[in-house]
Amino acid sequence: MRFDEPTRLRLRRHLLDRGRVLATLLADVLAGKRIEGRLHVLGVDDQPGMRPEEKLRRALDEVEARRKLLDAGDDRFGRCEICGVDLGALALGEMAWADRCRAHAHR
Ligand SMILES: [Zn+2]
Repeated sequence: MRFDEPTRLRLRRHLLDRGRVLATLLADVLAGKRIEGRLHVLGVDDQPGMRPEEKLRRALDEVEARRKLLDAGDDRFGRCEICGVDLGALALGEMAWADRCRAHAHR
């Protein structure tokens, strides 16, 4: 485990908060509310062809997958899933759910 316990707990809380925000937004979409602007703010609008609920479900899956890695003490947490580079505590502090380095950010 590369993170000390306070850091791990902070990252975990950050992931759970993100999941809650996304789930709330998903509920809003399913209730027929218009939320496009909020998707952009959350950085969830990177796939032009997808419907808002699909974007949100995918983002939720990604957050959940990262939380599972963190909880399992899996060394892949906090690393780029393409090249394995450590994303660093600073970047993870901003986006605990990050799964790509800058070079591989575009899917
Ligand atoms: Zn990479």
